[in-house]
Amino acid sequence: MSNYSPCPNCGSEDLYRHKAGSAGDGMYSTNYLPGLGHFMNPARFHPVICADCGLTRMFIEEKNRVKLKRSSKWERVRVTKN
Ligand SMILES: [Zn+2]
Repeated sequence: MSNYSPCPNCGSEDLYRHKAGSAGDGMYSTNYLPGLGHFMNPARFHPVICADCGLTRMFIEEKNRVKLKRSSKWERVRVTKN
């Protein structure tokens, strides 16, 4: 979780990642990451912000991402290339 591509909007490499991240569970809000965490250890968003243009990308940790493939709550999307 420490390597990121340059900003896809402006190409900048001046990127900042929030260290602690934000819980994606539904304790006080919508559960944005259903099925990817545990009750006492919810999956977390880690925002990465471009200091030059402000584009914000959200990443979740690998330990939570590995659950995507077998979770019934998520579906793989089709990717189109130009
Ligand atoms: Zn940017």
